[in-house]
Order: sequence, then C-alpha cells, then structure tokens
Amino acid sequence: PGEPVLEALQHADVRRLLPVPSGESDKYRRGVVGIAAGSARYPGAAVLAVAGALRGGAGAVRYVGPAGDAVLARFPETLVSDRGPRQAGRVQAWVVGPGAGDDASAVAEVLASDVPVLVDADGLRLADRDAVRARTAPTLMTPHAGEAAALLGVPREEVEGARLASARELAARYDATVLLKGSTTLVADPGGGAVRVNPTGTAWLATAGSGDVLSGLAGSLLASGLGALDAGSTAAYLHGLAGRFAADGAPVGAHDVADAVPEAWRDVR
Ligand code: AMP
Ligand code: MG
Repeated sequence: PGEPVLEALQHADVRRLLPVPSGESDKYRRGVVGIAAGSARYPGAAVLAVAGALRGGAGAVRYVGPAGDAVLARFPETLVSDRGPRQAGRVQAWVVGPGAGDDASAVAEVLASDVPVLVDADGLRLADRDAVRARTAPTLMTPHAGEAAALLGVPREEVEGARLASARELAARYDATVLLKGSTTLVADPGGGAVRVNPTGTAWLATAGSGDVLSGLAGSLLASGLGALDAGSTAAYLHGLAGRFAADGAPVGAHDVADAVPEAWRDVR
C-alpha cells in the first residue's frame, strides 16, 4: 500500500490550523491581506472578497482597485488605495482576480511579488503560466470546474468526470496549489502528495459571489501565515460550514455566508 491519495479534512485538523492572536500580536503581525479585485462592472466581487477576508484571521485588509467606494461603504475598516498592487503598502498575501474583468496588469503585478498569492476567477484566465511557475512564494489557484477546464483546454465535462486527476494536472502544470471548487472541493499541492477533500459544503453555496467570499477567506489565512494547502483547505472547511449555518435549509446570498464565517470558526474552535 502506498501513500493515501485522498485525505478527508476533519474538525480536529482544522482546529489546529486556525490562527489565533496571542498577547504579543498586533494587526501587522497578524498579517495584512491585499485584495486586488472588482471592476466598474463587478464592484460586488470586491466587496464579497473583502467580506471573506475580514473573517479569515488577518489583522488588516487592504483593497486596491476601482471598487474602493463600494468596499468602504460596506466595510469602513478596509485600507483602501487607488494605486496598483505594486505601490500599495505592505501586504503579507494577495488575492487577485474576483470580478477583475480584463485588468491583466494587477494580476501581473501581484504575481511578480514575493508574497503568497491566491488567483481566482478572471485572474485565472489573465495569469501567465510562466509567471506563475517562476514565483518563489506559494501560489494558490481556486478554479471551479469551468475555469479549470478552460485552463486545461478541455471540455468542462472532462473535468467533472475526473476531478482528482484534473486538480493534480493543473497543480503540476502551474507548479501551484490548486483548490478545485465544487460539491466536494479538492485541494492539491504540486509535486503530488495526498489531495485534501472538504466534506463540509452544501449545495446552498451554489450562489453568485460565494466563490469570492472563499477567495478572501483563504487569502486572509495565507496572510496570517498558513501555507497554501492549509490555507485553502481551512478556508474551504470554514466556508462550507458557514454555508450550512447561514442557509440552514433556506436560500441565502453570498454575503450571508461571509457573515456566518465567525459562527463556523467558533464551531471548529
Ligand atoms: P464560485 O463558482 O466561484 O462562485 O464558487 C462557488 C462556491 O460554492 C465554491 O466554494 C463551491 O465549492 C461551492 N459550491 C458550488 N456548488 C456546490 C454544491 N453543489 N455543493 C457544495 N458546494 C458548492
Ligand atoms: Mg467564482
């Protein structure tokens, strides 16, 4: 018998991973997460990514992009800058892509940084594969099946029919950690190793903006010091639980899921 191929995430594993501030903590030591997301067309994606990031353990959330007013109106605690990621103040991890439209420059700037980066949504399409492969800090990519299929150049059904192999193949091609979203979310490191499976999801999470919340949450965990595999799988676990708590058998919006993340966190603690 070789190494296990799949590992199901369990409460006790996630509990050990949750970042908890100590007496010596300040907001910078807890980590600053940078969100480069949203566009004039999709400002809400920025708001939802920030909503997730505020519940992920980082000490501060910095937003760069064109949706600063919308972000501030909802979350006054956000540090908003109208400069690009390169000129923004210090950041310990970046989230790039949700609702980004066609802004390739923010994606390129973030990928050129030497801190961990999460790439989601439009950012996946805009990210240059060689730029991802050349990174020295961890990269976490968070496609759903359709986005993964586009990156692999295969029909969506092919990814749906071979999710484990697809996640591993994508991780190998990009030399990045891949979180493949869906009814059971998988998280695969490059270079093989067991793939983590998240059991907490609920179909109520199949709602617009839900993935943007996950991105912010996972980016915040990256900023607080978790590696890409741990940040991705912890975020998927909390997000799935938050979806269950928020929905409780009834339809909810993505912002409700973000609001329920603290309840998920307390359940795991
Ligand atoms: P996105 O497609 O980017 O908005 O992300 C959707 C989010 O909802 C991801 O976290 C998915 O894992 C989750 N999700 C979508 N459909 C389901 C489902 N049927 N069961 C559980 N989780 C789901
Ligand atoms: Mg999405």
